[in-house]
Amino acid sequence: MGESYQIRLSTDDLPRKWYNILPDLPEPLPPPIGDEQLQRLPELMIGKCLEQEMSQENWIDIPDGVLELYERAGRPRPLFRARALERAIGTPARMYYKSEFYSPTGSHKVNTALAQAYYAKEQGIERLTTETGAGQWGTALSYACAMVGLKCTIYWVRAVYRWKKARRNLMNLFGAQVFASPSPNTKVGKELYDKNPEHPGSLSIAISEGLEDAQDPKAAYSLGSVLNHVLMHQTIIGLETQKQFEKAGDYPDIMISCLGGGSNFGGFVLPFVGEVLKKGKKIKFIAAQSKAAPNLQGEYKYDYADHGEITPQLKMYTLGHQTEFPPIRGDGLRYHGCSPIISLLRKHGYIDTIAYPQDEKYVFEMAELFTRTEGFLPAPESAYSIACAIDEAHRCKKTGEAKVIAFNVSGHGFMDMVGYDEVLGLSDRSPLREMAK
Ligand SMILES: *Cc1c(COP(=O)(O)O)cnc(C)c1O
Repeated sequence: MGESYQIRLSTDDLPRKWYNILPDLPEPLPPPIGDEQLQRLPELMIGKCLEQEMSQENWIDIPDGVLELYERAGRPRPLFRARALERAIGTPARMYYKSEFYSPTGSHKVNTALAQAYYAKEQGIERLTTETGAGQWGTALSYACAMVGLKCTIYWVRAVYRWKKARRNLMNLFGAQVFASPSPNTKVGKELYDKNPEHPGSLSIAISEGLEDAQDPKAAYSLGSVLNHVLMHQTIIGLETQKQFEKAGDYPDIMISCLGGGSNFGGFVLPFVGEVLKKGKKIKFIAAQSKAAPNLQGEYKYDYADHGEITPQLKMYTLGHQTEFPPIRGDGLRYHGCSPIISLLRKHGYIDTIAYPQDEKYVFEMAELFTRTEGFLPAPESAYSIACAIDEAHRCKKTGEAKVIAFNVSGHGFMDMVGYDEVLGLSDRSPLREMAK
């Protein structure tokens, strides 16, 4: 074999501990506030997750049961060297990408869903409830509940529920109960549903329904991004990547991923941020966002995590918890606030950010280039990460610098072909024009 394309770990190399950055942060993380909201949490949340949320331990053991679930989900995942993409750009940069698109449900979200479902089962909880907007989180939790033998109830914003039938069917295949929200199932939902059974719903109503349903003593509520324990579970991505760079005898100068609430970005970069903070390494971290919801360009202040003000307030970069955002295909990037950990690092100057135009034409074109050269179809959210990596590679081409660019591809786009078609006009492409290219 000639040049290598893939850096692979064996199952024995699977990291045994998650990295908790809290004790290494440049200043203590401002605590969540709101007495009433905080008091409700122990009844609603998985005990172990709540405990991990505040932990000051640097390294947290991954239970054997979770390691087994990670292995069943295909971990460790390969790190690829993007040689074909490098050649297409003509860059001296060395580009590497992490393959979270190999996830059984199509996104990195299974990394925390599996850990949460495992802890819930261990605690004797019988059912997990959650809300979902784009649908990736609902699918990941449905899958995780199926793997450990828990029931799963999903409240899905009615407007999206109708539209994404394939994803809904996948959740049903995993055995989840999926309700269009507002539903007649809860008090909050029924009030709205009785007035208008066609109510389009919103993420805040769906959160309220999930939380109300979790008051059942046998149930708990699960969260898919933003919180400290979610980012910590996701560090499995970056910890594997560290081992892979060691194996490759290389080290990143620039690390990139897309950012909605911050879980895939955090999971990918935080172990490396630890090396910057403690070992004096130098890496540029870039979070790729949409101009539709560039939360890292918002204000750093206390704000609610939800529209309905049910959650405690978190200190974070936010655009305001009741702001309405225009629809985009990369729906997972449409959230008002950024995780408190990433926000604090941004405030201290460790995180750069870029926001791409909300028509998404440019990012989808870059996703097309990636698909044609590397062969993997990225999720619309991941297209932002790819666009940013390509921009950096072009910068290297101009300056002649052979930098090492590492980027995360958070998911696959097999269920997002409608979005690709709408943005790129695939169905309207003339075969003759294509041949002339
Ligand atoms: C949910 C999602 C995101 C955005 O969420 P983060 O918590 O910021 O990672 C990005 N990519 C994919 C594929 C997603 O499903």
